[in-house]
Amino acid sequence: AAQPYDVIIIGGGPGGYNAAIRAGQLGLKVACVEMRETLGGTCLNVGCMPSKALLHASELFELAAKDFAGLGIEVPAPKLNLPQMMKQKGESVTALTKGIEFLFKKNKVDWLKGRGRIDGPGKVVVEGADGSRTYETRNIVIATGSEPTPLPGVAFEDGKVVDSTGALSLPAVPKHLVVVGAGIIGLELGSVWRRLGAQVTVIEFLDRITPGMDTDLATAFQRTLTKQGMTFRLGQKVTAAKTTKDGVELTVEPAAAGAAETVKGDVVLVAIGRRPYTQGLGLETVGIELDKRGFVANDHFRTGKDGIWVIGDVTHGPMLAHKAEEDAVAAIETIAGKAGHVDYNLIPSVVYTYPEVAWVGKTEDELKAAGVAYKTGKFPFTANSRAKINHETDGFAKVLADAATDRILGVHIMGPQAGELIGEACMAMAFGGASEDIARTSHPHPTRSEAVRQAAMGVEGWTMQA
Ligand code: FAD
Repeated sequence: AAQPYDVIIIGGGPGGYNAAIRAGQLGLKVACVEMRETLGGTCLNVGCMPSKALLHASELFELAAKDFAGLGIEVPAPKLNLPQMMKQKGESVTALTKGIEFLFKKNKVDWLKGRGRIDGPGKVVVEGADGSRTYETRNIVIATGSEPTPLPGVAFEDGKVVDSTGALSLPAVPKHLVVVGAGIIGLELGSVWRRLGAQVTVIEFLDRITPGMDTDLATAFQRTLTKQGMTFRLGQKVTAAKTTKDGVELTVEPAAAGAAETVKGDVVLVAIGRRPYTQGLGLETVGIELDKRGFVANDHFRTGKDGIWVIGDVTHGPMLAHKAEEDAVAAIETIAGKAGHVDYNLIPSVVYTYPEVAWVGKTEDELKAAGVAYKTGKFPFTANSRAKINHETDGFAKVLADAATDRILGVHIMGPQAGELIGEACMAMAFGGASEDIARTSHPHPTRSEAVRQAAMGVEGWTMQA
């Protein structure tokens, strides 16, 4: 019989592939089961990467149409070639998924193609194109990820009522796109289609957008998106959808109760969240039960059943690719007898719209609720020379620090490339930094990163506002 594996990972997304590669690097005998035709999971195939490809291209399209002339660049009105935009997206995605395949080979990871199922302790069955095979393993890592949460009363229908995957590949620009859910995915994809010419209405149950984002930022962000032409209907819920010859009619009611109205769109994007995916995984064969929301719970990546671990979207914590990656490395290092740890307070969030919004650590609301005394430093991009020169002054940076110790508790940024800027804050916080540490660190001039430094100086009370 074949030698048992040290570890079999089920799922080849950012959780699964990072776990597999790390296991290979540490000399473990490792396999990764993935049922998709390509590796990379949601993130590479239908998530982070294709959405960023469309965000980048559509941002340039809008820039060419609206901003070039003001910079003294006269070009004819840009024309959209949607098939080409989709093609370059697809080519980038293929290059990335092939890259993972290459890394598997390089690190001696076996890709078991097919659907994986746990069949009792230490056994994984893989249903592949040419039948099913059972593999023995010392450890199993569940990394099966998540899927879009459907909205009751609103059935998905090709090209009309779509999830994020459908919205990444619409064959034409809708006249009116209705986005249900004002979370990160809905606002990113809504921005793509608005830039390409759609009228976009966002319907949200809560009375604010992007739950989890600092309220200060969320308010500024909503104002900016509205200025760009997005329409928000907050505090409203969609209770039914009817597809017609030329689109979809949604029944919309006030969240609190009240009279229903009809909202018509030609495409509806349901983006109300994602739920853990464990279908057909055979968890019952090892006695693992799901929690109330369908997640596989964990304690330092252990499921509570010997030799069975869980990482990424299918377990607790932010449903983000870089969180899945942190889980992966820590879990595999633990399996290999080393130490593994993830600080979930330091997992940053980014919205890749224009401008971007990025944050790490605690929001003001969280600090207030916890009764923590904190100081605030805030700096607007209107006072940042690089932003001014580039005509990109929307937004601000905000640093929250402990009132007694000055330790940085949270950093919140809205502005171009905020996602790149937040890395500095993550690093400072990982080192237990104080706002004075950022304030006394030389930053290159002229860059937007100076706004983060100025916000930190603001905590100290010596911002040098231009
Ligand atoms: P997944 O990536 O979902 O991978 C799980 C894999 O397991 C899948 O490939 C699936 O086919 C496979 N699988 C499941 N069950 C089985 C089985 N039984 N047998 C074999 N294979 C199986 N995150 C970010 O950090 N930044 C972003 O910009 C970002 N943008 C996003 C945009 C969109 C539109 C979406 C939908 C998501 C986005 N995310 C983003 C979230 C990110 O994609 C997820 O957090 C990440 O993919 C989770 O990784 P994972 O490995 O846990 O699961």
